Amino acid sequence: MSTGPGTPLLDISGVTVRYGTVATAALTDVSLTVHPGERVALIGPSGAGKTTILSLANGLVLPTTGRVEIMGVDSVELGQRAHRDARRLVGTIPQGNALVGPLRVAQNVASGRLGRWGPLEALRALVRPREIDEILEVLTQVGIPEKLWERADQLSGGQQQRVAIARALFQGARLLLADEPVSALDPARSAAVLDVLDAAVRDAPDRALLASLHDAPLALRYCSRVVALREGRVEFDKPVGEVDQTELDLLYELER
Ligand code: ADP
Repeated sequence: MSTGPGTPLLDISGVTVRYGTVATAALTDVSLTVHPGERVALIGPSGAGKTTILSLANGLVLPTTGRVEIMGVDSVELGQRAHRDARRLVGTIPQGNALVGPLRVAQNVASGRLGRWGPLEALRALVRPREIDEILEVLTQVGIPEKLWERADQLSGGQQQRVAIARALFQGARLLLADEPVSALDPARSAAVLDVLDAAVRDAPDRALLASLHDAPLALRYCSRVVALREGRVEFDKPVGEVDQTELDLLYELER
């Protein structure tokens, strides 16, 4: 693992992804590097390849051709015991957030340190979460310390998303991956959750955020860089200040 200054947290280089025997590639010759301090939005229409990029970034999908390095480790080798530390540095905030509903918020956050255990082991280990002070600290960062002992399934959608973010922070993640983190939320709650993600990187510039956001205006408002995808290819990759409306319109046009 290499996480020194200047080392990208994620380096996707010339990657093509094909799922099984599907003829059309999900991604074609995609290159994308994410450095500490960046807040990168993946935008583009449904099916453009945003989720596939996030799955490459946490090693769940391997490239068919090309190379992916996560914390300087080739993703093909990421599952090895020796690379446990590199895996810990990648925190995924999945679509629908995937909390364990009947468990308390504290237990859900604590599960961030269980690596790749299944829910059963997690349940056994988490009946009495240790490290409550640290859990409270991350819940304070995401703005809901008072929810520590609430059942996760009693929370609103926005609060559940905050718990998922707190779990990734408690895990010690430096690369935060968020798949459509606000797609199920109303505008006010969306803004609040994106504020939390934004602050997570601004407050700790050794972190970075890579988030898929089909809503381009939100991407422009909350991120520092936009990577636009269409039909599995990168259409453009630039700082938000350089994105113009015409290219956004073109990106989301149905037929070209
Ligand atoms: P997005 O997140 O932008 O909607 P995805 O990465 O989910 O795009 O999908 C990119 C392409 O890959 C789409 O054509 C989708 O149908 C296909 N795809 C995604 N996951 C699978 C899978 N598990 N098996 C087969 N095809 C898939």
